[in-house]
Amino acid sequence: MTPHLPFTRPSIDEATIAGVAEVLRSGWITSGPQVKAFEAELSRLCGGRAVRSFNSGTAALEVGLRLAGVRAGDEVITTPLSWVATANVVLEVGARPVFVDVDPRTRNIDLERVEAAITPATRAIIPVDLAGLPVDRDRLYEIAERHRLRVLEDAAQSFGASWRGRTLGSFGDLVAFSFHANKNVTCAEGGAIVLPGPDLVPLCEKLRLQGVTRSGEDGMEVDVLGGKFNLTDVAARIGLGQLPRLAEFTARRRALARAYFERWDASLDCELPPQDFEDSNWHMFQVLLPQRVERARFIAAMREAGIGVGVHYPAMHLFSLYRALGWRAGDFPHAERVGRGIVTLPLFPAMTDADVARVCEAAARVLA
Ligand SMILES: *Cc1c(COP(=O)(O)O)cnc(C)c1O
Repeated sequence: MTPHLPFTRPSIDEATIAGVAEVLRSGWITSGPQVKAFEAELSRLCGGRAVRSFNSGTAALEVGLRLAGVRAGDEVITTPLSWVATANVVLEVGARPVFVDVDPRTRNIDLERVEAAITPATRAIIPVDLAGLPVDRDRLYEIAERHRLRVLEDAAQSFGASWRGRTLGSFGDLVAFSFHANKNVTCAEGGAIVLPGPDLVPLCEKLRLQGVTRSGEDGMEVDVLGGKFNLTDVAARIGLGQLPRLAEFTARRRALARAYFERWDASLDCELPPQDFEDSNWHMFQVLLPQRVERARFIAAMREAGIGVGVHYPAMHLFSLYRALGWRAGDFPHAERVGRGIVTLPLFPAMTDADVARVCEAAARVLA
């Protein structure tokens, strides 16, 4: 019996495990020197811009909205095809998410439809780079500048990806990353935000931890309501062990994606992702099943064959929380169709080319 192949698995090396043990023995396990070092390394990767870490990508997004001045009554434009955190944070700050359908080819927000969704209440856009495929940053910022909108890039899945040769996070407005266990680089749980300027650092730090500012030996002041979003040194040490391997991870993911394209049987009638080997970090390799195939049966049959398959994601405007706010089936036909048929096939750096062949053969058998 061949071992079960999950759809993803983190690559944590022994040096990182030893480093975490050292942190645990050090007597300082929550935010401290490891967090500082992790943020410095992230800043270096983002062209020297100010970066602050969080205990999740969701927290980074929520603080990003607050830093952008998004408040009750504002509207925020985003995609219906993302992890639900993307829209939940908009509700969390009291604003209203306004969904715009996706481009069925990229599965990302269709920028050609964004301007029609802008109203006097629109304050920001949250683009999502689904599966690590970057949203067109030139067109995005052109629209944002013309309408004076803030941009909060949900780059949770696209850490290490780039746009026309520029690393995501090294340019743009606010950029949020996630270091959840399934992301390309992980802290187990964690996140970060890249700030458009260093002037936002003090407010960002206050919003991260109870609104507190310390001064001198004993000074403490609270002038704004902050959350409890700080990263621990234990988690930051995991991330510090991952960052030097980012280039290796991304290259391996690209090679595995190429192997999928080479081996996938085109006669199966599935829609494959765009073959972007320049910019995408290949966070996921997702195919759209033909409409005749029942997705749940495909997933069960693949599990029988020892292969894990994920679903990322159902269109979120159809969740009851969002239906209660007025969205209905039929509002975003492309996102709904993709959300119904999409599956995530195994893709992670420790996978072999033989694993890809095994997935392709099993899928061909199941779909036949
Ligand atoms: C993972 C993810 C998030 C949230 O990140 P967490 O670290 O899990 O809070 C937000 N948006 C997208 C697109 C994600 O994939």
